[in-house]
Amino acid sequence: MAEFTMELNDEQKEVRDWLHGFAADVIRPAAAEWDEREETPWPVIQEAAKVGIYSLDFYAQQYFDPTGLGIPMAMEELFWGDAGIALSIVGTGLAAVGVLANGTEEQIGTWVPQMYGDANDVKLAAFCSSEPDAGSDVASMRTRAVYDEAKDEWVINGTKTWATNGGIANVHVVVAVVDPELGSKGHASFIVPPNTPGLAQGQKFKKHGIRASHTAEVILDNVRVPGSCLLGGKQKLDERLARARERAKAGGERVKNAAMATFEASRPAVGAMAVGTARAAYEVALDYAMTREQFGRPIIDNQGVAFQLAEMATQIDAARLLVWRASWMAINGKPFTAAEGSMSKLFASETAKKVTAQAIQILGGNGYTREYPVERMHRDSAIYTIFEGTSEIQRLVIARTLSGMPIR
Ligand SMILES: Cc1cc2nc3c(=O)[nH]c(=O)nc-3n(C[C@H](O)[C@H](O)[C@H](O)COP(=O)(O)OP(=O)(O)OC[C@H]3O[C@@H](n4cnc5c(N)ncnc54)[C@H](O)[C@@H]3O)c2cc1C
Repeated sequence: MAEFTMELNDEQKEVRDWLHGFAADVIRPAAAEWDEREETPWPVIQEAAKVGIYSLDFYAQQYFDPTGLGIPMAMEELFWGDAGIALSIVGTGLAAVGVLANGTEEQIGTWVPQMYGDANDVKLAAFCSSEPDAGSDVASMRTRAVYDEAKDEWVINGTKTWATNGGIANVHVVVAVVDPELGSKGHASFIVPPNTPGLAQGQKFKKHGIRASHTAEVILDNVRVPGSCLLGGKQKLDERLARARERAKAGGERVKNAAMATFEASRPAVGAMAVGTARAAYEVALDYAMTREQFGRPIIDNQGVAFQLAEMATQIDAARLLVWRASWMAINGKPFTAAEGSMSKLFASETAKKVTAQAIQILGGNGYTREYPVERMHRDSAIYTIFEGTSEIQRLVIARTLSGMPIR
């Protein structure tokens, strides 16, 4: 087990500086344009693929970094560049992790490379769980997967919503109900291979922020996938369902299921994205406050402004500490006895919203215009308190974990 440390090693520092260079030279200059266009920034993703940032190898290297700091460090730098473009670059990783965590070796080897494509022919992947009537309440999911034993195929029907890269992805990972009696324990994940008949993009959403990231509905109409597309395989699913039925029979014992543990482990990554956006806005605000003069002196000369910046920097550092702690716990298999993953996401995402709003205030009228990036950063920051579990759901998870009570 790696000791917890706040000190990046030389290799990590090298990677951080490389990512920061890409974020500063390629992502940040493209941010305003793609925000206005509200389109997937394919040329930037391609550029990231060319240098190796958009690749399975890079993502896996950071994901399996024993210190746990690889992913949060990478997320912070890329999202420092721009949240919408960065989500277009890392969105595939969210689907890939679903396969890396639950797939067989064969599934990982077959599908994950197809999620990324290569530098000459870049591909994307989408993770489709949320539905119009099943957002925070995952257990009310309706998309149904039924096994056709004669053909060894699964038939999937339903509507997914809010899917990042939904409909434009080469590979979709779709969560569906396989046993409606078991609530969220009766769900399973499926690969929907490229060009599978019956999968179509529905509405593409026009959004408040992260507008360079594509978000859309995904319609599944009698989508047939081979049995081999069930993540983890049929035997593992049957065993898991049998265990869940046993528990249900035994009186519905409350189980801390694997999905909960997975969320606790993945939430710090969203916290790191939020830290990146917050840090970006803080830096713009600090620079502005030191150069903008009113009443014959820089505005930072007023405690009212300087103290705000002090507060912003403190909150960002505190957020990063929580994120790094939770990321270290996740990779080292430490139990999240106080929902530390949710804590990190809650604090970092709320910090990003607050800090980006403060940055607008410090820039005054300029902050309110699209001539300066903090307006975009503030719009972008609102997503962090919504996706991967809203702030309210994080508070619920933390409160339930701390108290052991089924707080509603
Ligand atoms: C840009 C974007 C990208 C996304 N990407 C993906 C993706 O790639 N894949 C995917 O599957 N999903 C994705 N999502 C979906 C996202 O995870 C959901 O939006 C989120 O889980 C919230 O669900 P909801 O929008 O249905 O809100 P709801 O669950 O309807 O919540 C509405 C409000 O009620 C509150 N609330 C609900 N229940 C409770 C409760 N018990 N206690 C207190 N308050 C409560 C919520 O906190 C929220 O404030 C994305 C969403 C967005 C906006």
